[in-house]
Amino acid sequence: MTSMTPPRRIYNFGAGPSILPVPVLEEASRGVLELGTSGMSILEVSHRGMDYEAIQFGARDRLLKIMGLSGDEYTVLFLGGGASLQFAMLPMNFLKAGETADYIHTGEWSAKAMKEAKKFGEVHVAGNSESEKFTRIPQALTFSANAKYVHLTTNNTIEGTQFHQWPDVAGLPLIADASSDILSRRIDFSKFAMIYAGAQKNLGPAGVTVVVIKKEFLAKANENGPTLLRYRTHADADSLYNTPPVFAIYTLGLVLKWIEAEGGLSKIEERNRRKAQLIYQALDAYPSFYDPTVSVKEDRSLMNITFRLRDVSLESEFLKGAGKLGMDGLKGHRSVGGFRASVYNAFPEAGAQALAEYLHRFALR
Ligand SMILES: *Cc1c(COP(=O)(O)O)cnc(C)c1O
Repeated sequence: MTSMTPPRRIYNFGAGPSILPVPVLEEASRGVLELGTSGMSILEVSHRGMDYEAIQFGARDRLLKIMGLSGDEYTVLFLGGGASLQFAMLPMNFLKAGETADYIHTGEWSAKAMKEAKKFGEVHVAGNSESEKFTRIPQALTFSANAKYVHLTTNNTIEGTQFHQWPDVAGLPLIADASSDILSRRIDFSKFAMIYAGAQKNLGPAGVTVVVIKKEFLAKANENGPTLLRYRTHADADSLYNTPPVFAIYTLGLVLKWIEAEGGLSKIEERNRRKAQLIYQALDAYPSFYDPTVSVKEDRSLMNITFRLRDVSLESEFLKGAGKLGMDGLKGHRSVGGFRASVYNAFPEAGAQALAEYLHRFALR
């Protein structure tokens, strides 16, 4: 076996691709050199071989188990194209001209999802917080009686809001883009007809998108459309219709093992709550200095904490000071400005502590 020196780690607050657990990086590096005793790298093995099948099917089963879902009711798909392809694939499979889908509009990602859906059918905006600059989750929701599905974005990565309870959709199929908070907390996943997520924020490296779809819902998919863009194709082939992103799925499987070893979603959630609380508390302690962009506390994200300085002229000094302390990736999304601290599952508590201390010190300096 090779010996590796531990990697140097900064506090990476990047929004995505984002931080991965060190034990996962170490195991993945070993897999790059040799997968088990196969004499081959994970980058070289056949996706049709037994070694690889065990990896992919293991990841599929472990994901369902962590989500508390049964393989009798739900199918897991590992797809390419990012979460962004799902914006188009979902309506391509479930929405036809003249039919309506409902979307809750909570920010830039939901806007992109709606843009694609409009190419296939009617979009009814069931709720919208644009007039409040997406600084909260919309309260008043109206659903179409005949909607093919209702789409929401569980966590708004750019704006820093998050759904903490689920709308009552009166039996309509509920679809979630959970790209930036999947497996960050306990959720009753059985409320959803489909959940999808690009892996690169909480699940693994970029290159694979996870789609967890209820079989009952999948049965209602359109029969036409390009073969590779039909959910049915991938479900029938166990996500091995074409060559899957082997390395990304392998690493995702290691992340799922890590989640289990950490104590599962309840432990992950507890830690995520502590991390977010440390940072929000520091921001809220100096209201004349910091401006947390999501003032409605119930709607704040545990994953992406967005804030500005009241005196914007201090922004570059703030960033520079953070960089000196080994904190990177804090610059806010270009459309929102200010700062964003992304504290996904793998982000350590010590990093949240370091940022909180820095926030205190910078305000008092
Ligand atoms: C990052 C992100 C996306 C886009 O993911 P890609 O995999 O880059 O296409 C979509 N939705 C949300 C909520 C995201 O955070």
